[in-house]
Amino acid sequence: MNTEKAMASGTATIPAPHSLRENFKGEILVEGDAGYDKERKIWNGMIDRKPVVIAQCIETSDIQYAVKFAKENSLLISVRGGGHNVSGNAVCDSGIMIDLSLMRSVKVDTEKKWAITEMGATWGDFDKATQQHGLATTGGLITTTGVAGLTLGGGVGWLVRKHGLSCDNIIEADVVTADGNLVKASLQENPDLLWGIRGGGGNFGIVSSMKLQLHDVGMVLGGMILHTRDKAKEVIRFYREFMKTAPEELTLYTGLLTSPDGVPVVGMIGCYCGDIEKGEAVLKPLREFGTPIADMIQPLPYVQMQSLLDAGFPHGNRYYWKSGFLKELSDEAIDTIVDQMASNPSPYSATLFEFYGGAATREPEGGTSYPHRQLQFDLVIISNWPDKADDEVNIAWTRNIWEAVQPFLSNKVYVNALGVEGKDRVKEAYGENYQKMLELKRKYDPANLFRMNQNIEPD
Ligand SMILES: Cc1cc2nc3c(=O)[nH]c(=O)nc-3n(C[C@H](O)[C@H](O)[C@H](O)COP(=O)(O)OP(=O)(O)OC[C@H]3O[C@@H](n4cnc5c(N)ncnc54)[C@H](O)[C@@H]3O)c2cc1C
Repeated sequence: MNTEKAMASGTATIPAPHSLRENFKGEILVEGDAGYDKERKIWNGMIDRKPVVIAQCIETSDIQYAVKFAKENSLLISVRGGGHNVSGNAVCDSGIMIDLSLMRSVKVDTEKKWAITEMGATWGDFDKATQQHGLATTGGLITTTGVAGLTLGGGVGWLVRKHGLSCDNIIEADVVTADGNLVKASLQENPDLLWGIRGGGGNFGIVSSMKLQLHDVGMVLGGMILHTRDKAKEVIRFYREFMKTAPEELTLYTGLLTSPDGVPVVGMIGCYCGDIEKGEAVLKPLREFGTPIADMIQPLPYVQMQSLLDAGFPHGNRYYWKSGFLKELSDEAIDTIVDQMASNPSPYSATLFEFYGGAATREPEGGTSYPHRQLQFDLVIISNWPDKADDEVNIAWTRNIWEAVQPFLSNKVYVNALGVEGKDRVKEAYGENYQKMLELKRKYDPANLFRMNQNIEPD
């Protein structure tokens, strides 16, 4: 059923979107249209929402028309970049989903070493385009994650210790504001907005494209080392000490997971983005520690490194996450988490410890709206299961472990790992910057048109 028919039959409940259609160049979908059900689905299979309109933009002016249309019709707006955010904020019920997934071009300037990317591009799209020229910037670990949401919330990945967070690499951006106007956010024009989008997510407007700094990145040395789970406490303690002196070229995480053949393991996975021979020397102690059951570290093209974990996070599975920075990675914290993981009900779930440091800490506190520049281990509990019937048991398990780790948590959380967890957690995500972000929100979006996000409420 097309839009007008849906309006006529009463299955759509807003004023006919032909006023939107008049100028809109992309696709407009309402319930009943072929593609509507596919396009409203996002990565987290737990999210099942029905927007009144899905506006699939193909150029910036489409975003502007969609924003104006939403405003005129008092419609709730959700914005979809890569559709990966676990909270499901990319899609709303009874509102307009402004879907950027058709806007995926990535243009590389090899001389200036930057890329201008549209905001529907995934990290797979971005890396493919930039790696043709031996260039890259810090991006997410899964190819289907969107450049948009990840970068606007901060952005950590295999290059974070060498080249900073993804948001540190934003040179400038085009932003559609709440009045539907297009403005530039750069150091020269609206520098406050540039500051805001370096961590503040979608609170201040819809970014249609951004220019990102690129760096020389060729072959890397990377992969995973696995040990049996009974060695988990020793391996994580080793990881903690190893990272104290690791060079910035190495980003390394450790985690409790289950191997594809069903064996509970502890893994260390990392990427050395400098000279391969030097990397071999750096990683030697890691490879010689204990008796690994698998050592898959090898020289790899960066794009291959960027897709190593894809299979573990299938689209449409059911996901429930909890995350927070630890005060410190104490022995007690390690023991508690490893013991709790023993009762995890799903072989698809994992718990990760991520240490950033290096370039991620160089930006002064307050230099970007992303606030967490301290040296700390980030804990990410990723519950992941395929069947709806198992929702209760997996969610209950996640809440239990979360309860158990409370004594070890600081009051800081990475905004991109938040689910729908309430105002206090949003404040923990924006930390010391909250007040300044509030002032910015009052300037750029006083009516809180953009509120399907980790929201800064202007009132
Ligand atoms: C499997 C998986 C792996 C991940 N790995 C990493 C990782 O390695 N590093 C890391 O830092 N994070 C990682 N994340 C977290 C990730 O950064 C967030 O989920 C992020 O929000 C995803 O961005 P997206 O564009 O795909 O999501 P979406 O759900 O499309 O967008 C998330 C939110 O961002 C806002 N937004 C999106 N596009 C725009 C836009 N153009 N303008 C304004 N606001 C916009 C909206 O508020 C939207 O609700 C991962 C998440 C998943 C699910």
